Amino acid sequence: MCKKLLGLTHPTVSLNFDLTDKGRVLSVMIDDRFPSEDITVGEDGKWRLNFVFNQAGDRTILIAIDDQSLEIKFKVVPVAQQNNLASTNPGAKAITLSGSVGVGGVNKANDLKAVKARLQELGYTWVGDPNTPTRDRGLEEAIRLFQSIITGSSTIKGDGRVDIDEMTHQWLQAANAPKWVLMPKSDPDNGFINGELAQTEDKHDFGTHWLADVIQAITQDYQNTYRDTHPNAAHFAINDVSLPHGGDTPDHHGHETGLMCDVFLPKKDGKFGGIFWTSPEYDQDAARAILKSIRKQKLVRAIFFNDSELIGEKLCTFASGHDHHIHFEINPPVRS
Ligand SMILES: [Zn+2]
Ligand SMILES: [Zn+2]
Repeated sequence: MCKKLLGLTHPTVSLNFDLTDKGRVLSVMIDDRFPSEDITVGEDGKWRLNFVFNQAGDRTILIAIDDQSLEIKFKVVPVAQQNNLASTNPGAKAITLSGSVGVGGVNKANDLKAVKARLQELGYTWVGDPNTPTRDRGLEEAIRLFQSIITGSSTIKGDGRVDIDEMTHQWLQAANAPKWVLMPKSDPDNGFINGELAQTEDKHDFGTHWLADVIQAITQDYQNTYRDTHPNAAHFAINDVSLPHGGDTPDHHGHETGLMCDVFLPKKDGKFGGIFWTSPEYDQDAARAILKSIRKQKLVRAIFFNDSELIGEKLCTFASGHDHHIHFEINPPVRS
């Protein structure tokens, strides 16, 4: 059974049986309506059934093997709702420091290791080996990038030092500390194209997981509110975010801290990019829907795009250089 996923979860149910059960056959019934027979328990005692739920709500699975059966009740929730619950946040981590770390810091060995380990785990992999207490340029650059992110700066700022109990130290320990990640991959069936990942000569693929989550939420909203009813409309297609290690990029002003994203303009033929908002191929209705989906995200603080009609609708603001793409940027969330 493989139906189109309408923004709903498709959990994988997996139960372990004794190894002696291998090769035995079980049957599964979902909601008294969808039977699956002949599921064989594998070598490792595991079995698997893929099933896509097309509606949210309370559901029941009945698993039967010979004369035994087991009923499991669970809830199917929409992906958008699930994203808020099961976020991609890294989780809190206590980092006890006996002195400051970084540029001009005390830099005790164990403190250095603890800060490097946390940054490494968050995706700032260029800090170097967290098991050695060395302090090289990579660590200082990573601390500066981290500081720029948590203050919402679009360019690299910060003193490169973690001071005890001050903002950088607190954010490093936060449950929603910013991870440095590759931006989401294209998912054309759900209306999303990452044009940047397809351009091998261009490396602006990285950013914060905060931005990655916002991009996923925009994709979902644009799909649900517009593309489901306009299946031939262009995808939500993103271009530049930030360089692999953040920092100065010759291509744009800003875009250094993984909080900013450029979006290609939708075209009436369902393709995107390579046009201006004044071009006859420009699909203003799709652009309006994309802007509305961007604006719904509470972290979004600014959208630059020069379509005067859409500016008149208060969906975006004018900024020079934004006649052929939409630029949006986010604020850091509240620390948790
Ligand atoms: Zn750009
Ligand atoms: Zn931009």
